[in-house]
Amino acid sequence: MCLVLPVSLQAQGNPANTLPLLGDGSDMSASAERRLGDRIARELFRDPDLIDDPVLTDYVQGVWQPLLAAARVRGDLTPELDERFAWRIVLGRDRSVNAFALPGGYFGLHLGLLAVVNSRDELASVLGHELSHVTQRHISRLISKNNQQTPWMIGAMILGALAASKSPEAGNALIVGGQALSAQSQLNFSRDMEREADRVGFGVMTQAGFEAQGFVGMFDKLQQAARLNDTGAYPYLRSHPLTTERMADMQSRLPLGAPHTVDVVPGMTHAMLTARARVLSSSGVDALRLWRAQADDARLVSQAPAQQAGILYGAAMAASRMRDAAQARKQWERLQQVAAQEPEAARQARWLGVEIELAARDLSRPQILALGDSIGLDPAKPAAVAQLRRPEMLLQAQIAAQSGQIGVIDRVAQSLQVWLVGEPQDALAWQWLASLYTAQNQSLRALRADAEARVAQLDYAGALDRLMAAQDRLKAASASGTPADHIEASIIDARRRQIEVLLKEQALES
Ligand SMILES: [Zn+2]
Repeated sequence: MCLVLPVSLQAQGNPANTLPLLGDGSDMSASAERRLGDRIARELFRDPDLIDDPVLTDYVQGVWQPLLAAARVRGDLTPELDERFAWRIVLGRDRSVNAFALPGGYFGLHLGLLAVVNSRDELASVLGHELSHVTQRHISRLISKNNQQTPWMIGAMILGALAASKSPEAGNALIVGGQALSAQSQLNFSRDMEREADRVGFGVMTQAGFEAQGFVGMFDKLQQAARLNDTGAYPYLRSHPLTTERMADMQSRLPLGAPHTVDVVPGMTHAMLTARARVLSSSGVDALRLWRAQADDARLVSQAPAQQAGILYGAAMAASRMRDAAQARKQWERLQQVAAQEPEAARQARWLGVEIELAARDLSRPQILALGDSIGLDPAKPAAVAQLRRPEMLLQAQIAAQSGQIGVIDRVAQSLQVWLVGEPQDALAWQWLASLYTAQNQSLRALRADAEARVAQLDYAGALDRLMAAQDRLKAASASGTPADHIEASIIDARRRQIEVLLKEQALES
């Protein structure tokens, strides 16, 4: 699914509600679209299937940020929209092949799509297309056509269609499936908009340095899927019918002489992370056991190194999730040998090694100690300075929590604080900071970090709860004669007032 919007539904809400937001039939303003997006995102963030897997998030951001930068350079992304919209991309655990754009610059990507793309270039082609629907203001145009609808109704429709787009095996999707199909047919972009998103998206992804072949590769893949698969596992196809015209249009954008069919050999890192997406989105031990069967198949060695690395990564991770540490280590050691030939693949293998030891609760292993260097995990060695990537920092937080060593916890808490100054919307980092503060017996700070994690997911009521709990503790402490922490108290008070303003604004909108 690309986007779900009611195009032809009749007004069901209170018409008076619509006018201030949607205006007089001209395009929806950027700030109005952002407010609608926030309303939808707030619900979306509560979905337990939303997943912030730091490793996959890191990979997706490595594609997403260059696309945004290219769209700025090309002028597709104007400074106004850049500032007004969220430009946030969230991952869903779902196995269906899907990516979608929502109002206000929120984007969704299912692990199922990550599991089938053959390269970063293919991923870039899908994300570039979705990004362009938003920069070209297709969403505001669709909403404006629907100015009979209250924003609340539009939000509810979008959320309903999102829920229904999940894999059939995911919970109660079958119940809403019928409704969703009829809604879906009313909720799509026009053909002209799809063509424009292809054209602009292609320009953005090539400007960002991705291979143009990725666009064609993705089309090829979707077309094959359309022939083989009509089970609903490819919701992206329902909203993006592959017309021959659209295919020909894309082919014509390729440089002269470029081959028209694409047989991309996935890079090693890509193969490993595709395996990760598959493991994370698979349910049940049978699927996890299959990885081991593939890894132990004698024919594995005859495959390309990238494919071997993918299978070994999946097998090691699957074994770890089944709590079989011995098996996980065995497959991981094989992986490490294969991955050693490429620096990024080797790094990804090391991260997986740390996860395996964290799951086995064994902090004495070399792979843990290597990442523990910069946080002084080994008291005999001085802490080294390191430039860390987000997954490494979050792994360090887990190491610190498991180690229980005060010095280590302090160092990681400090590096998380520094990180969060630049990335205040990183809810997962706030959650880890809250855990580390709890381990330090800093209950006020823990509550405040927990409140910030909720703000990052637009849950202002939840944030206010935490801040009020912190103020209750401060009162109880001063009543019992404990010296008051004035600085912390004033930070909490100021933050509480800001959150109350946000809550009031939210109440006015609904
Ligand atoms: Zn589209």
